[in-house]
Amino acid sequence: MNIITKRDKIRQAFKDFDHDNRDKKDSDTSWKGWTFGDMRVALARLDPDKCSAEDVSNILNESWVSLICDECNKECNVLLHIGQPEDYDNRWWDMCHDCLSSGMKMMEGEA
Ligand SMILES: [Zn+2]
Repeated sequence: MNIITKRDKIRQAFKDFDHDNRDKKDSDTSWKGWTFGDMRVALARLDPDKCSAEDVSNILNESWVSLICDECNKECNVLLHIGQPEDYDNRWWDMCHDCLSSGMKMMEGEA
């Protein structure tokens, strides 16, 4: 297991966008109605280590930077990733602090 932060998600969005759209021409139109060239230029103006999630979602969309607890479905800044590294097979679970605390309370007295 490992920690995933909002900053990790922002950094990953830059990598995923480049990787997922590597075959797209700058003149191709994206899901946002922008050209991929315009999106690349806009992303290049941002620093993945300093920009906000909103900065990125304005260019891509919310799902690229959302960090949602798999238990309560709340948007979070930090999650504990349990299971295998993310892949196409869904063999992991991401949990927020509140849900982990609730789980710990459920386990108390049972061990
Ligand atoms: Zn939760």
